[in-house]
Amino acid sequence: MTIAEPETDKTAAPDASNSRRFAEIGKLTANSFNAQKQLIKRVLKGQSVSCAGCRQPLNVLLPEQLKPGQKPGIFCKKGCTDIELDMEAYG
Ligand SMILES: [Zn+2]
Repeated sequence: MTIAEPETDKTAAPDASNSRRFAEIGKLTANSFNAQKQLIKRVLKGQSVSCAGCRQPLNVLLPEQLKPGQKPGIFCKKGCTDIELDMEAYG
């Protein structure tokens, strides 16, 4: 009597979410991407940063402050700054 080995699924699709994220980043110029990274760093350090558009102070929403349906991010009241935080990258 033999027991058949379960066939491993080699046709599983590679994780598409990563390549999609890189594509998003690629749309930004290196300059604005770095500027955004600096901005995120400053906000996460607790420094007060103003929106480049409306000059209002930026709000930060951290994962532990989230209400259902919310995503962590940095944003201003008017919405000209609306950065979604990737806490894996910045935490
Ligand atoms: Zn703004």
